[in-house]
Amino acid sequence: QVETLKAKVLEQAQEISRLRSEQGGTDAEKHRDLLAAENERLRQEMKACEGQLRELQQRQQQAPCRDCPHLQENAGLQEQLSQLQREAEEMRAKLAELDLEVQQKTNRLAEVELRLKDSLAERAEEEERLSRRLRDSQETIASLKSQPQQIKYIIKTVEVESAKAKQALCETQSRNQYLLEQVGMQKQVLKEMEQQLQSSQKTEAQLRAQIMMYEAELERAHGQMLEEMQAMEEEKNHAIEEAFSRAQVEMKAVHENLAGVRTNLLLLQPALRTLTHDYNSLKRQVRDFPLLLQDTLRSARAEISQAIEEVHSTNRELLRKYRRELQLRKKCHNELVRLKGNIRVFGRVRPITKEDGEGPEAANAVTFDADDDAVLHLLHKGKQVSFELDKVFPPQASQEEVGATMHTAGVSGEGSHLLLTLPCLPQVFQEVQALVTSCIDGYNVCIFAYGQTGAGKTYTMEGTAANPGINQRALQLLFSEVRGKAADWDYTITVSAAEIYNEALRDLLGKEPQEKLEIKLCPDGSGQLYVPGLTEFRVQSVEDINKIFEFGHVKRVTECTNLNEHSSRSHALLIVTVRGLDRSTGLRTTGKLNLVDLAGSERVGRSGAEGSRLREAQHINKSLSALGDVIYALRSRQGHVPFRNSKLTYLLQDSLSGDSKTLMMVQVSPAEKNTSETLCSLKFAERVRSVELGPVSRKAELGSWPSQEHLEVLKTLLGDSPSSAASPGRGHASPSPGQLSSRSASIRRKLHTSG
Ligand code: ADP
Ligand code: MG
Repeated sequence: QVETLKAKVLEQAQEISRLRSEQGGTDAEKHRDLLAAENERLRQEMKACEGQLRELQQRQQQAPCRDCPHLQENAGLQEQLSQLQREAEEMRAKLAELDLEVQQKTNRLAEVELRLKDSLAERAEEEERLSRRLRDSQETIASLKSQPQQIKYIIKTVEVESAKAKQALCETQSRNQYLLEQVGMQKQVLKEMEQQLQSSQKTEAQLRAQIMMYEAELERAHGQMLEEMQAMEEEKNHAIEEAFSRAQVEMKAVHENLAGVRTNLLLLQPALRTLTHDYNSLKRQVRDFPLLLQDTLRSARAEISQAIEEVHSTNRELLRKYRRELQLRKKCHNELVRLKGNIRVFGRVRPITKEDGEGPEAANAVTFDADDDAVLHLLHKGKQVSFELDKVFPPQASQEEVGATMHTAGVSGEGSHLLLTLPCLPQVFQEVQALVTSCIDGYNVCIFAYGQTGAGKTYTMEGTAANPGINQRALQLLFSEVRGKAADWDYTITVSAAEIYNEALRDLLGKEPQEKLEIKLCPDGSGQLYVPGLTEFRVQSVEDINKIFEFGHVKRVTECTNLNEHSSRSHALLIVTVRGLDRSTGLRTTGKLNLVDLAGSERVGRSGAEGSRLREAQHINKSLSALGDVIYALRSRQGHVPFRNSKLTYLLQDSLSGDSKTLMMVQVSPAEKNTSETLCSLKFAERVRSVELGPVSRKAELGSWPSQEHLEVLKTLLGDSPSSAASPGRGHASPSPGQLSSRSASIRRKLHTSG
């Protein structure tokens, strides 16, 4: 048993030493130390990597590749790097955790070891004690053997005592069992730890691989950066080389320029010397110049003032001559007018028209004298009657010709030389021009169209749109004359339009056309007449006049039911007033141009006419007789001129008397059926003209032409063929509708002519 026990104890000891060797606490520690050393190494490597990274960053910042396209890539790489760093940091934290765990486990292991040592010591003590007892027992046994009596007892004792040892052995065994369990547990823990260690080693390997990868990437980025830097360096070098070569070329050019400039300078030096010389001489001249200038100015001033003085005196002389010329012109004009007579009578025969019809009634009854353009023959009732006027216009005479011939007829007499001052003017409307000129000079002018209805009064005065009459041409001339004199004269031209119907004067431009106007003496005592309320429009062109015509025409049309009839039964007046101011002399002039389209002169059958028709005829007869009287009286220079016998003559008083000029155009129809009226008109014309023009003697002669007597003559004339007046077919008691409509159309055409 003792042997067995010994063997068991030995076994236990062996087991303990095995366990001790197996426990491997020192291995784990070694392992931990190894790991710690590895960690440390990794940390070192990490630090080195960071250092390199910082260095690279610095280099990158210093490197002049701010605008490099790799900058972005670099930034990406840096981002990746920081990510990797973060991951490495995490790994490091994990590693630290693992370290902590290993530390804790190591501590626990140390504790277990301590406990194991304690139990081992206990066991050793126990063994010691047991072996001592065994020895004691063996000694006892040996002594007992020598004392056989006592052996049994001793054996008993030993047996008893051996039971006790058995119990102790049992206890030791159980304790050993417990320790074994403990060791197994420790082994288990160690295994777990080993597993943990393995996993952390794996993680570490992974981390290391990642770090390697990052390092490789870093290496690559670094390589790229180096490449870029190199490329940039090359570029820089290239640019520098280029700049250098350019600069060299420029330098060369500059050198060449410099050489050129140098040669120029050399060439210029003599020029500079001459210039300096010139400059000095000029300086001297400038110094002397004020004196010279003063002298020259003095003499020039004297010359200029002398010249101005001369010009002044010449001007004065010219002005004096001009004024004298003006007076002379006026005198000549007056003389001319006196010679021509202030009143002139022309006859105009219109062509046969469709309105005259056909057959013997429409046959031509008027012939002309081939040698004398002032003579006209009328075949009346089989007898030829001849008339002499100032001028006769045949049917083929054009509107222009009428005007032109009026003039030549006018100068064919004694005063022809006086009008030779106008030879260069076109031979159109010269007579009218002369009248317009006198109007501008401040004379009053009257142009009348006299004759039976349909004889061509309106045609002569207004004309057609395509072929205007005296009115339009006279006004055109007036405006052009005024324009021509605009340098010296300021002119104001105003226009009024009026009509006289049944001895009532009406304003055709006023707001109240029906209102009857009165002719009054100017309150200023000048003896001038004026019509209060008569509208006056200022005009500056023929267009303005045409607008006014239109306005007046519209008034006239709206006021009467039958314009044709009405217009042949009324006198239409266009009064143009020209006021002038000579800026150099301050002379003021006022001239009036009266253009009158008279009412039809035809006789109204005394037995046939009644009521308003008779009243109209009486008024027309009266006013035309009065006009005839006035013209007689004026032409024969009577002391009394019966202006007041009619509204017409009274209105035109200042335009018929004094230095005023009058032109009477007697219109004649050549048709056979109109011969009675033609005879009357021509007799009237001849009688008006028959008064001899001449000096004072005429006055005495005129005295024998009282207006009343003339009226009687006229009446006789008008009534000398009652048969024709009574016959509606031959007479012209009333105008034919065709004639009337043609007159209205003529007015319309005229009004629509706006230049
Ligand atoms: P009055 O005004 O005397 O009544 P008009 O002037 O109306 O007469 O003339 C009557 C007609 O005769 C119109 O159709 C007009 O065109 C025409 N007439 C008048 N004189 C001439 C002429 N010289 N040449 C052509 N036609 C004329
Ligand atoms: Mg008419």
